[in-house]
Amino acid sequence: MTTYAQVFQGTAFTSKSPRELQILKDYLFCINVDGMIEKIISPENKDYQSILNAYKDADNFHRLAEGQYFLPGFVDLHVHAPQWAQSGTALDIPLYDWLNTYTFPIESKFSDLAFAKKVYQDVVSTLLANGTTTALYFATVHKEASYLLAEICAKKGQRGLVGKVVMDNPDQNPEYYRDADTQTALADTEEFILAVKELAKSTKQGVYPVVTPRFIPSCTDEALKGLGDLAAKYDTYIQSHCSESDWEHSYVQDRFHKNDAFALHDFGLLKDKSVMAHCNFLNDDDADLFAETGTAVSHCPISNAYFANSVIPIAHLHSKGVEIGLGSDISGGFSPSLFDNARQAVISSRMLEDGVNTALPAEKRGVPNSRITINEAFYFATAGGGESLSLPIGCIAEDYSWDVQIIDTAQLPIYDANEELHDIFQKIMYLTRPENIREVWVQGDKVHSR
Ligand SMILES: [Zn+2]
Repeated sequence: MTTYAQVFQGTAFTSKSPRELQILKDYLFCINVDGMIEKIISPENKDYQSILNAYKDADNFHRLAEGQYFLPGFVDLHVHAPQWAQSGTALDIPLYDWLNTYTFPIESKFSDLAFAKKVYQDVVSTLLANGTTTALYFATVHKEASYLLAEICAKKGQRGLVGKVVMDNPDQNPEYYRDADTQTALADTEEFILAVKELAKSTKQGVYPVVTPRFIPSCTDEALKGLGDLAAKYDTYIQSHCSESDWEHSYVQDRFHKNDAFALHDFGLLKDKSVMAHCNFLNDDDADLFAETGTAVSHCPISNAYFANSVIPIAHLHSKGVEIGLGSDISGGFSPSLFDNARQAVISSRMLEDGVNTALPAEKRGVPNSRITINEAFYFATAGGGESLSLPIGCIAEDYSWDVQIIDTAQLPIYDANEELHDIFQKIMYLTRPENIREVWVQGDKVHSR
């Protein structure tokens, strides 16, 4: 018989497709030494009983208690780690003012490594406690502090994809917070890429460097071009913000006479490993370019409600074949929970479909076919995020990483011992708080428990 590093027994919820949930009731999940799911065994399988007998009294056997369920760990495709220090602050002012009055002053403090360490340790632990096993992070312009964030992810067991932010444009960035010049920005990025690649060699769950122009306005043409070249040279991930708000969208139109998507593509920044945050104002040509290049959209529904001046037509983009995941956008979004963001994704899509202006007749109020279901929001938070990053994560399936959260429904309003598992899943998605997340595992290792 094959030996496994761990065997788990319990019921799991995972996506079968964007709209369909798969329920694995009372299955065995056999994990190998690399933290990958090697075998998933149904109770009807002939080997079920023999494996159960072989492992059930062993230390590496874990049986879920009654009322507990496995969910895939969440993949957060857009987090500004330093902005954890300002979470919930000043969400009543426009993006441009918010950046200049609150965000840039906070981010500039990350030249101080002691301060950076404090915030970064907290944000990584907080995301893990909220079930986020993989996160795509913007750090700051500071090379050392950005590396520190990657190290903290590596140590705490989170799969972190980290970018040193580039903002070298003197016209758009304050003197106290920007790269010294374009050459320095590119040299620092290259050094950062090499250092994180080195760190990755000793990190089981993986850490990855990400080429990170903050957004087009903050970068010179030369920097954007240089970053596209670096991403190609080292085959790295790429992240930025794209067509987020009226202001940002029209700034790019004025400068390049095209939309963000085509401007970014000109600099080699739209690829299979690219993830673009927000993307509210993508038109159909932009969306086709995303689908052709394999570029993913990070949908940040809470943040969008404050700063994006619109509801993104996410169902439409998805129907055009664009890869989509969810992002918390801390702290444009105040919540570190992808449960909260999945809920908001559904709510926003319903408001887009029905419309919001009661002065209009019902048939003129909304955009038809815009709603998404909670199953789709769950898919975006898990499997969609995994696809966006082209990593074997976000599903509870063979050859995927054992990245899971164990949800305890003891405190949820479940009063019928025979309640349908589909209904229990919906209660989990709408009502789970961090206190209901008992354990979090990444790549076969327990990284959080309460
Ligand atoms: Zn952002």
